[in-house]
Amino acid sequence: MRKCTYLTGTGTSGQGGMAWRGYGRLGAQLWRSRGWPQMLVCRRIVSCIDPSTGLTEEQKEFQKVAFDFAAKEMAPHMVEWDEKEIFPVETMRKAAQLGFGGIYVKPDVGGSGLSRLDTSIIFEALSTGCASTTAYLSIHNMCAWMIDTFGSEELRHKFCPSLCSMEKLASYCLTEPGSGSDAASLITSAKRKGDTYILNGSKAFISGGGDTDVYVVMCRTGGSGPKGISCLVLEKGTPGLSFGKKERKVGWNSQPTRAVIFEDCAVPVANRLGAEGQGFNIAMKGLNGGRINIASCSLGAAHASVLLAQEHLTIRKQFGEPLASNQYLQFRLAEMATLLVAARLMVRNAAQALQEEREDAIALCAMAKLFATDECFTICNQALQMHGGYGYLKDYAVQQFMRDIRVHQILEGTNEVMRMIVARSLLQE
Ligand SMILES: Cc1cc2nc3c(=O)[nH]c(=O)nc-3n(C[C@H](O)[C@H](O)[C@H](O)COP(=O)(O)OP(=O)(O)OC[C@H]3O[C@@H](n4cnc5c(N)ncnc54)[C@H](O)[C@@H]3O)c2cc1C
Repeated sequence: MRKCTYLTGTGTSGQGGMAWRGYGRLGAQLWRSRGWPQMLVCRRIVSCIDPSTGLTEEQKEFQKVAFDFAAKEMAPHMVEWDEKEIFPVETMRKAAQLGFGGIYVKPDVGGSGLSRLDTSIIFEALSTGCASTTAYLSIHNMCAWMIDTFGSEELRHKFCPSLCSMEKLASYCLTEPGSGSDAASLITSAKRKGDTYILNGSKAFISGGGDTDVYVVMCRTGGSGPKGISCLVLEKGTPGLSFGKKERKVGWNSQPTRAVIFEDCAVPVANRLGAEGQGFNIAMKGLNGGRINIASCSLGAAHASVLLAQEHLTIRKQFGEPLASNQYLQFRLAEMATLLVAARLMVRNAAQALQEEREDAIALCAMAKLFATDECFTICNQALQMHGGYGYLKDYAVQQFMRDIRVHQILEGTNEVMRMIVARSLLQE
Protein backbone atom coordinates (compact mmCIF):
# COMPACT_ATOMS: atom_id res chain seq x y z
CA MET A 1 0.00 0.00 0.00
CA ARG A 2 1.25 3.45 -0.83
CA LYS A 3 1.59 5.86 2.05
CA CYS A 4 2.13 9.58 1.68
CA THR A 5 4.20 9.78 4.84
CA TYR A 6 7.79 10.68 4.43
CA LEU A 7 7.06 14.30 3.67
CA THR A 8 4.46 14.74 6.36
CA GLY A 9 6.03 13.70 9.63
CA THR A 10 5.89 15.43 12.97
CA GLY A 11 8.82 16.67 15.01
CA THR A 12 8.64 16.29 18.73
CA SER A 13 12.03 16.48 20.37
CA GLY A 14 14.57 19.28 20.55
CA GLN A 15 18.35 19.53 20.63
CA GLY A 16 20.63 22.53 20.93
CA GLY A 17 19.02 25.50 19.24
CA MET A 18 16.59 23.31 17.27
CA ALA A 19 12.95 24.28 17.39
CA TRP A 20 11.46 20.88 16.63
CA ARG A 21 9.31 20.70 19.74
CA GLY A 22 5.70 21.43 18.97
CA TYR A 23 6.35 21.52 15.28
CA GLY A 24 2.99 20.49 13.92
CA ARG A 25 2.10 18.16 11.13
CA LEU A 26 2.90 20.09 7.99
CA GLY A 27 0.48 19.09 5.29
CA ALA A 28 1.88 18.17 1.96
CA GLN A 29 -1.52 19.32 0.73
CA LEU A 30 -0.23 22.47 -0.85
CA TRP A 31 2.47 20.60 -2.63
CA ARG A 32 0.01 17.96 -3.74
CA SER A 33 -2.22 20.54 -5.34
CA ARG A 34 0.51 21.81 -7.63
CA GLY A 35 1.04 19.11 -10.22
CA TRP A 36 4.55 17.73 -10.20
CA PRO A 37 5.30 17.90 -6.48
CA GLN A 38 2.45 15.44 -5.97
CA MET A 39 4.70 12.80 -7.43
CA LEU A 40 7.28 13.41 -4.73
CA VAL A 41 4.72 13.21 -1.95
CA CYS A 42 2.84 10.09 -2.88
CA ARG A 43 5.63 7.55 -2.95
CA ARG A 44 6.00 4.56 -0.73
CA ILE A 45 8.25 5.15 2.23
CA VAL A 46 9.38 1.52 2.24
CA SER A 47 11.75 1.56 -0.65
CA CYS A 48 15.33 0.59 -1.46
CA ILE A 49 16.10 4.29 -1.93
CA ASP A 50 14.48 5.43 1.34
CA PRO A 51 16.80 8.17 2.69
CA SER A 52 15.84 7.38 6.30
CA THR A 53 17.32 3.87 6.20
CA GLY A 54 19.92 3.39 8.92
CA LEU A 55 19.20 6.66 10.73
CA THR A 56 18.55 7.05 14.45
CA GLU A 57 15.05 7.94 15.61
CA GLU A 58 16.14 11.51 16.26
CA GLN A 59 17.71 11.81 12.82
CA LYS A 60 14.52 10.48 11.26
CA GLU A 61 12.60 13.12 13.16
CA PHE A 62 14.55 16.12 11.91
CA GLN A 63 14.73 14.57 8.47
CA LYS A 64 10.92 14.59 8.45
CA VAL A 65 10.88 18.20 9.56
CA ALA A 66 13.23 19.09 6.68
CA PHE A 67 11.15 17.11 4.17
CA ASP A 68 8.02 18.85 5.46
CA PHE A 69 9.64 22.22 5.07
CA ALA A 70 10.79 21.34 1.56
CA ALA A 71 7.27 20.21 0.63
CA LYS A 72 5.37 23.10 2.14
CA GLU A 73 7.67 26.09 1.96
CA MET A 74 9.99 25.43 -0.95
CA ALA A 75 8.66 23.09 -3.63
CA PRO A 76 5.53 25.13 -4.42
CA HIS A 77 7.76 28.15 -5.19
CA MET A 78 10.78 26.49 -6.74
CA VAL A 79 9.73 27.18 -10.34
CA GLU A 80 8.88 30.82 -9.67
CA TRP A 81 12.14 31.46 -7.78
CA ASP A 82 14.02 30.07 -10.77
CA GLU A 83 12.07 31.92 -13.46
CA LYS A 84 11.93 35.29 -11.68
CA GLU A 85 15.35 34.91 -10.06
CA ILE A 86 13.94 35.48 -6.57
CA PHE A 87 16.30 35.09 -3.59
CA PRO A 88 13.81 33.72 -1.00
CA VAL A 89 15.19 35.40 2.11
CA GLU A 90 11.98 35.16 4.14
CA THR A 91 11.68 31.42 3.41
CA MET A 92 15.27 30.93 4.52
CA ARG A 93 14.52 32.84 7.73
CA LYS A 94 11.66 30.42 8.35
CA ALA A 95 14.13 27.58 7.81
CA ALA A 96 16.41 29.25 10.34
CA GLN A 97 13.58 29.16 12.90
CA LEU A 98 13.84 25.37 12.61
CA GLY A 99 17.57 25.54 13.30
CA PHE A 100 18.76 25.36 9.68
CA GLY A 101 20.69 28.67 9.70
CA GLY A 102 23.56 27.34 11.82
CA ILE A 103 23.13 23.59 11.83
CA TYR A 104 26.67 22.73 12.93
CA VAL A 105 27.33 25.96 14.82
CA LYS A 106 27.61 25.67 18.60
CA PRO A 107 24.41 26.30 20.62
CA ASP A 108 25.90 29.04 22.87
CA VAL A 109 25.79 31.44 19.89
CA GLY A 110 22.45 30.28 18.52
CA GLY A 111 23.51 27.25 16.50
CA SER A 112 21.91 23.83 16.49
CA GLY A 113 25.10 21.99 17.46
CA LEU A 114 24.35 19.04 15.21
CA SER A 115 26.88 16.73 13.54
CA ARG A 116 28.13 16.73 9.94
CA LEU A 117 26.02 13.65 9.24
CA ASP A 118 22.91 15.32 10.66
CA THR A 119 23.67 18.33 8.48
CA SER A 120 23.94 16.17 5.37
CA ILE A 121 20.61 14.50 6.12
CA ILE A 122 18.92 17.91 6.48
CA PHE A 123 20.40 19.42 3.28
CA GLU A 124 19.49 16.31 1.30
CA ALA A 125 15.87 16.55 2.45
CA LEU A 126 15.60 20.32 1.88
CA SER A 127 17.00 19.98 -1.64
CA THR A 128 14.01 17.96 -2.76
CA GLY A 129 12.10 21.26 -2.45
CA CYS A 130 14.69 23.49 -4.15
CA ALA A 131 18.32 22.48 -4.71
CA SER A 132 19.48 26.01 -5.51
CA THR A 133 18.08 27.64 -2.36
CA THR A 134 19.38 24.79 -0.21
CA ALA A 135 22.82 25.15 -1.78
CA TYR A 136 22.94 28.82 -0.74
CA LEU A 137 21.79 27.80 2.76
CA SER A 138 24.72 25.38 2.83
CA ILE A 139 27.21 28.15 1.96
CA HIS A 140 25.70 30.39 4.63
CA ASN A 141 26.04 27.56 7.18
CA MET A 142 29.67 27.04 6.16
CA CYS A 143 30.49 30.73 6.77
CA ALA A 144 28.71 30.71 10.14
CA TRP A 145 30.72 27.63 11.13
CA MET A 146 34.00 29.30 10.10
CA ILE A 147 33.28 32.32 12.30
CA ASP A 148 32.11 30.08 15.16
CA THR A 149 35.19 27.86 14.94
CA PHE A 150 38.00 30.28 14.15
CA GLY A 151 36.68 33.64 15.41
CA SER A 152 37.48 35.19 18.78
CA GLU A 153 34.79 34.98 21.46
CA GLU A 154 33.92 38.58 20.63
CA LEU A 155 33.50 37.79 16.91
CA ARG A 156 31.48 34.64 17.58
CA HIS A 157 29.04 36.52 19.76
CA LYS A 158 28.93 39.49 17.42
CA PHE A 159 28.15 37.57 14.21
CA CYS A 160 26.86 34.06 14.89
CA PRO A 161 23.49 34.77 16.55
CA SER A 162 22.25 36.93 13.65
CA LEU A 163 23.68 34.46 11.12
CA CYS A 164 21.99 31.49 12.80
CA SER A 165 18.64 33.32 12.74
CA MET A 166 19.45 34.41 9.18
CA GLU A 167 18.62 37.96 10.11
CA LYS A 168 22.00 38.43 8.41
CA LEU A 169 23.23 36.39 5.46
CA ALA A 170 26.82 35.41 4.67
CA SER A 171 29.01 34.91 1.62
CA TYR A 172 32.26 32.98 1.19
CA CYS A 173 34.85 34.90 -0.84
CA LEU A 174 37.79 32.86 -2.15
CA THR A 175 37.67 32.78 -5.98
CA GLU A 176 39.17 35.68 -7.95
CA PRO A 177 39.13 36.49 -11.65
CA GLY A 178 42.70 35.15 -11.96
CA SER A 179 42.60 32.38 -9.33
CA GLY A 180 39.97 29.64 -9.43
CA SER A 181 41.25 26.09 -9.07
CA ASP A 182 44.63 27.50 -8.04
CA ALA A 183 43.03 29.35 -5.13
CA ALA A 184 46.29 29.78 -3.23
CA SER A 185 47.50 32.19 -5.94
CA LEU A 186 44.91 34.81 -4.95
CA ILE A 187 46.07 38.44 -4.98
CA THR A 188 43.45 40.43 -3.05
CA SER A 189 45.68 42.24 -0.56
CA ALA A 190 45.20 43.30 3.05
CA LYS A 191 47.88 45.73 4.28
CA ARG A 192 48.07 46.35 7.99
CA LYS A 193 47.60 49.98 9.06
CA GLY A 194 47.37 50.37 12.84
CA ASP A 195 44.46 48.29 14.07
CA THR A 196 42.92 47.88 10.62
CA TYR A 197 43.69 46.08 7.38
CA ILE A 198 43.25 47.99 4.12
CA LEU A 199 41.70 45.58 1.65
CA ASN A 200 42.11 45.91 -2.14
CA GLY A 201 41.18 43.51 -4.92
CA SER A 202 38.19 41.62 -6.22
CA LYS A 203 36.42 38.28 -5.90
CA ALA A 204 34.51 36.51 -8.66
CA PHE A 205 31.38 34.32 -8.63
CA ILE A 206 30.38 35.12 -5.04
CA SER A 207 27.15 33.35 -4.05
CA GLY A 208 24.76 35.78 -2.42
CA GLY A 209 27.14 38.63 -3.31
CA GLY A 210 25.48 42.04 -3.09
CA ASP A 211 22.41 40.70 -1.24
CA THR A 212 24.27 39.38 1.79
CA ASP A 213 25.52 41.20 4.87
CA VAL A 214 28.68 39.39 6.02
CA TYR A 215 31.64 38.56 3.74
CA VAL A 216 34.24 35.99 4.80
CA VAL A 217 37.20 37.05 2.68
CA MET A 218 40.45 35.23 1.96
CA CYS A 219 43.18 37.81 1.28
CA ARG A 220 46.95 38.13 1.13
CA THR A 221 48.65 39.58 4.21
CA GLY A 222 52.03 37.96 3.59
CA GLY A 223 54.19 36.48 0.83
CA SER A 224 53.14 34.25 -2.05
CA GLY A 225 51.51 30.84 -1.59
CA PRO A 226 48.98 29.54 0.93
CA LYS A 227 50.93 30.66 4.02
CA GLY A 228 50.59 34.31 3.03
CA ILE A 229 46.80 34.20 3.18
CA SER A 230 44.56 35.41 6.03
CA CYS A 231 40.81 35.37 6.53
CA LEU A 232 38.85 38.56 7.36
CA VAL A 233 35.17 39.19 8.06
CA LEU A 234 33.84 42.24 6.29
CA GLU A 235 30.41 43.82 6.75
CA LYS A 236 28.19 45.23 4.03
CA GLY A 237 28.23 48.99 4.16
CA THR A 238 31.99 49.18 4.66
CA PRO A 239 33.19 52.15 2.55
CA GLY A 240 34.93 50.89 -0.61
CA LEU A 241 32.93 47.64 -0.83
CA SER A 242 30.97 47.29 -4.08
CA PHE A 243 29.50 44.59 -6.30
CA GLY A 244 29.47 43.60 -9.95
CA LYS A 245 26.37 42.94 -12.03
CA LYS A 246 24.20 39.95 -11.19
CA GLU A 247 25.47 37.02 -13.28
CA ARG A 248 23.05 35.22 -15.61
CA LYS A 249 23.29 31.49 -14.96
CA VAL A 250 22.16 28.07 -16.24
CA GLY A 251 20.74 27.20 -12.82
CA TRP A 252 21.08 28.35 -9.20
CA ASN A 253 18.74 31.19 -10.16
CA SER A 254 17.16 31.50 -6.71
CA GLN A 255 20.43 32.98 -5.45
CA PRO A 256 22.40 35.91 -6.84
CA THR A 257 26.03 35.55 -7.93
CA ARG A 258 28.16 38.69 -8.25
CA ALA A 259 31.75 39.90 -8.20
CA VAL A 260 32.73 41.55 -4.92
CA ILE A 261 35.12 44.49 -5.17
CA PHE A 262 37.28 46.00 -2.43
CA GLU A 263 38.75 49.49 -2.83
CA ASP A 264 40.65 50.61 0.24
CA CYS A 265 38.16 48.90 2.58
CA ALA A 266 39.23 49.33 6.20
CA VAL A 267 38.62 46.10 8.17
CA PRO A 268 39.37 45.92 11.92
CA VAL A 269 42.24 43.57 12.76
CA ALA A 270 39.83 42.14 15.36
CA ASN A 271 37.74 40.81 12.43
CA ARG A 272 40.45 38.32 11.46
CA LEU A 273 39.63 34.60 11.84
CA GLY A 274 42.60 32.71 13.27
CA ALA A 275 46.14 34.02 13.07
CA GLU A 276 47.77 35.83 10.14
CA GLY A 277 48.75 33.24 7.54
CA GLN A 278 46.11 30.69 8.62
CA GLY A 279 43.47 31.91 6.17
CA PHE A 280 44.00 29.30 3.48
CA ASN A 281 43.84 26.52 6.00
CA ILE A 282 40.61 27.94 7.42
CA ALA A 283 39.16 28.29 3.91
CA MET A 284 39.94 24.63 3.13
CA LYS A 285 38.53 23.44 6.47
CA GLY A 286 35.31 25.26 5.63
CA LEU A 287 35.25 23.60 2.23
CA ASN A 288 35.68 20.06 3.57
CA GLY A 289 32.27 20.35 5.19
CA GLY A 290 31.03 22.47 2.28
CA ARG A 291 31.78 19.61 -0.10
CA ILE A 292 29.67 17.19 1.92
CA ASN A 293 26.88 19.76 2.05
CA ILE A 294 26.89 20.49 -1.67
CA ALA A 295 27.03 16.75 -2.41
CA SER A 296 24.00 16.35 -0.11
CA CYS A 297 22.13 18.95 -2.16
CA SER A 298 22.88 16.82 -5.24
CA LEU A 299 21.52 13.76 -3.42
CA GLY A 300 18.20 15.50 -2.74
CA ALA A 301 17.83 16.59 -6.36
CA ALA A 302 18.68 13.08 -7.59
CA HIS A 303 16.28 11.49 -5.12
CA ALA A 304 13.46 13.73 -6.31
CA SER A 305 14.38 13.01 -9.94
CA VAL A 306 14.27 9.23 -9.43
CA LEU A 307 10.79 9.58 -7.95
CA LEU A 308 9.68 11.76 -10.85
CA ALA A 309 11.08 9.26 -13.37
CA GLN A 310 9.49 6.34 -11.53
CA GLU A 311 6.11 8.09 -11.67
CA HIS A 312 6.45 9.07 -15.32
CA LEU A 313 7.40 5.55 -16.41
CA THR A 314 4.31 4.23 -14.68
CA ILE A 315 1.90 6.76 -16.16
CA ARG A 316 3.19 7.32 -19.70
CA LYS A 317 2.19 4.73 -22.30
CA GLN A 318 3.94 4.07 -25.60
CA PHE A 319 3.64 1.04 -27.91
CA GLY A 320 0.42 0.21 -26.04
CA GLU A 321 2.08 -0.27 -22.66
CA PRO A 322 3.41 1.83 -19.80
CA LEU A 323 7.05 2.80 -20.34
CA ALA A 324 7.73 0.95 -17.07
CA SER A 325 7.18 -2.39 -18.79
CA ASN A 326 10.19 -1.79 -21.05
CA GLN A 327 13.16 -3.71 -19.68
CA TYR A 328 15.75 -1.22 -20.94
CA LEU A 329 14.04 1.55 -18.96
CA GLN A 330 13.64 -0.72 -15.93
CA PHE A 331 17.38 -1.40 -15.98
CA ARG A 332 18.20 2.29 -16.33
CA LEU A 333 15.93 3.08 -13.37
CA ALA A 334 17.64 0.35 -11.36
CA GLU A 335 21.05 1.86 -12.22
CA MET A 336 19.87 5.31 -11.13
CA ALA A 337 18.63 3.95 -7.81
CA THR A 338 21.88 2.05 -7.29
CA LEU A 339 24.02 5.13 -7.98
CA LEU A 340 21.84 7.23 -5.66
CA VAL A 341 22.23 4.84 -2.75
CA ALA A 342 25.97 4.42 -3.40
CA ALA A 343 26.45 8.20 -3.48
CA ARG A 344 24.43 8.67 -0.29
CA LEU A 345 26.52 6.06 1.54
CA MET A 346 29.73 7.76 0.42
CA VAL A 347 28.53 11.19 1.52
CA ARG A 348 27.39 9.91 4.91
CA ASN A 349 30.64 7.98 5.38
CA ALA A 350 32.68 11.13 4.64
CA ALA A 351 30.48 13.18 6.98
CA GLN A 352 31.18 10.71 9.76
CA ALA A 353 34.93 10.79 9.05
CA LEU A 354 34.93 14.60 9.20
CA GLN A 355 32.95 14.56 12.44
CA GLU A 356 35.54 12.22 13.97
CA GLU A 357 38.37 14.42 12.59
CA ARG A 358 39.95 11.35 11.01
CA GLU A 359 43.09 11.70 8.91
CA ASP A 360 41.39 10.32 5.83
CA ALA A 361 38.51 12.80 6.12
CA ILE A 362 39.80 15.32 3.56
CA ALA A 363 40.22 12.69 0.84
CA LEU A 364 36.91 11.04 1.74
CA CYS A 365 35.10 14.41 1.50
CA ALA A 366 36.71 14.99 -1.92
CA MET A 367 35.78 11.46 -3.08
CA ALA A 368 32.21 11.87 -1.88
CA LYS A 369 31.86 15.26 -3.59
CA LEU A 370 33.35 13.89 -6.82
CA PHE A 371 31.21 10.76 -6.89
CA ALA A 372 27.93 12.20 -5.61
CA THR A 373 27.89 15.37 -7.72
CA ASP A 374 28.89 13.51 -10.90
CA GLU A 375 26.53 10.58 -10.42
CA CYS A 376 23.59 12.64 -9.17
CA PHE A 377 23.90 14.83 -12.26
CA THR A 378 23.84 11.65 -14.37
CA ILE A 379 20.72 10.50 -12.50
CA CYS A 380 18.89 13.81 -13.06
CA ASN A 381 19.91 13.83 -16.72
CA GLN A 382 18.72 10.24 -17.18
CA ALA A 383 15.44 11.09 -15.42
CA LEU A 384 15.01 13.92 -17.91
CA GLN A 385 15.68 11.50 -20.78
CA MET A 386 13.00 9.16 -19.46
CA HIS A 387 10.51 12.02 -19.71
CA GLY A 388 11.23 12.35 -23.44
CA GLY A 389 10.28 15.75 -24.86
CA TYR A 390 8.34 16.62 -21.71
CA GLY A 391 11.55 16.48 -19.71
CA TYR A 392 12.85 19.37 -21.76
CA LEU A 393 9.87 21.56 -20.91
CA LYS A 394 10.03 23.95 -18.00
CA ASP A 395 6.59 22.69 -16.87
CA TYR A 396 8.39 19.56 -15.62
CA ALA A 397 10.59 19.85 -12.54
CA VAL A 398 13.21 17.37 -13.64
CA GLN A 399 15.02 19.87 -15.89
CA GLN A 400 15.36 22.33 -13.01
CA PHE A 401 16.95 19.76 -10.73
CA MET A 402 19.39 18.94 -13.52
CA ARG A 403 20.22 22.60 -14.23
CA ASP A 404 20.58 23.42 -10.53
CA ILE A 405 23.03 20.66 -9.67
CA ARG A 406 25.23 20.95 -12.78
CA VAL A 407 27.30 23.59 -11.03
CA HIS A 408 28.01 21.28 -8.07
CA GLN A 409 30.56 19.58 -10.32
CA ILE A 410 32.33 22.94 -10.68
CA LEU A 411 32.27 24.83 -7.40
CA GLU A 412 33.72 24.25 -3.93
CA GLY A 413 36.66 22.81 -5.90
CA THR A 414 36.00 21.38 -9.36
CA ASN A 415 35.73 17.62 -9.69
CA GLU A 416 39.16 17.66 -11.37
CA VAL A 417 40.53 19.29 -8.20
CA MET A 418 38.75 16.56 -6.17
CA ARG A 419 40.73 13.98 -8.16
CA MET A 420 43.93 15.90 -7.37
CA ILE A 421 43.13 15.81 -3.63
CA VAL A 422 42.40 12.07 -3.65
CA ALA A 423 45.50 11.27 -5.75
CA ARG A 424 47.68 13.41 -3.47
CA SER A 425 46.47 11.56 -0.40
CA LEU A 426 47.28 8.23 -2.07
CA LEU A 427 50.68 9.16 -3.46
CA GLN A 428 52.12 11.32 -0.70
CA GLU A 429 51.71 8.75 2.05
C1 LIG B 1 27.37 29.67 -9.72
C2 LIG B 1 28.72 29.71 -9.06
C3 LIG B 1 28.80 30.08 -7.71
C4 LIG B 1 30.04 30.16 -7.10
N1 LIG B 1 30.11 30.55 -5.78
C5 LIG B 1 31.31 30.80 -5.23
C6 LIG B 1 31.40 31.38 -3.92
O1 LIG B 1 30.39 31.62 -3.24
N2 LIG B 1 32.63 31.67 -3.43
C7 LIG B 1 33.76 31.41 -4.13
O2 LIG B 1 34.84 31.71 -3.61
N3 LIG B 1 33.72 30.87 -5.37
C8 LIG B 1 32.52 30.57 -5.93
N4 LIG B 1 32.46 30.04 -7.20
C9 LIG B 1 33.67 29.85 -7.95
C10 LIG B 1 34.05 28.38 -8.15
O3 LIG B 1 34.50 27.86 -6.94
C11 LIG B 1 35.10 28.33 -9.27
O4 LIG B 1 34.41 28.61 -10.48
C12 LIG B 1 35.81 26.99 -9.35
O5 LIG B 1 36.65 26.83 -8.23
C13 LIG B 1 36.66 26.84 -10.62
O6 LIG B 1 37.47 27.95 -10.85
P1 LIG B 1 37.46 28.64 -12.30
O7 LIG B 1 36.04 28.91 -12.65
O8 LIG B 1 38.38 29.79 -12.26
O9 LIG B 1 37.97 27.52 -13.29
P2 LIG B 1 39.52 27.18 -13.64
O10 LIG B 1 40.30 27.04 -12.39
O11 LIG B 1 39.97 28.16 -14.66
O12 LIG B 1 39.38 25.77 -14.31
C14 LIG B 1 38.88 25.55 -15.63
C15 LIG B 1 38.84 24.04 -15.89
O13 LIG B 1 40.19 23.52 -15.87
C16 LIG B 1 40.27 22.49 -14.89
N5 LIG B 1 41.59 22.52 -14.25
C17 LIG B 1 42.21 23.57 -13.69
N6 LIG B 1 43.40 23.21 -13.22
C18 LIG B 1 43.55 21.90 -13.49
C19 LIG B 1 44.58 20.94 -13.24
N7 LIG B 1 45.70 21.25 -12.64
N8 LIG B 1 44.36 19.66 -13.65
C20 LIG B 1 43.22 19.31 -14.28
N9 LIG B 1 42.21 20.19 -14.54
C21 LIG B 1 42.38 21.46 -14.14
C22 LIG B 1 39.16 22.79 -13.89
O14 LIG B 1 38.79 21.64 -13.17
C23 LIG B 1 38.06 23.28 -14.83
O15 LIG B 1 37.40 22.20 -15.40
C24 LIG B 1 31.21 29.87 -7.82
C25 LIG B 1 31.11 29.49 -9.17
C26 LIG B 1 29.90 29.41 -9.79
C27 LIG B 1 29.82 29.02 -11.22
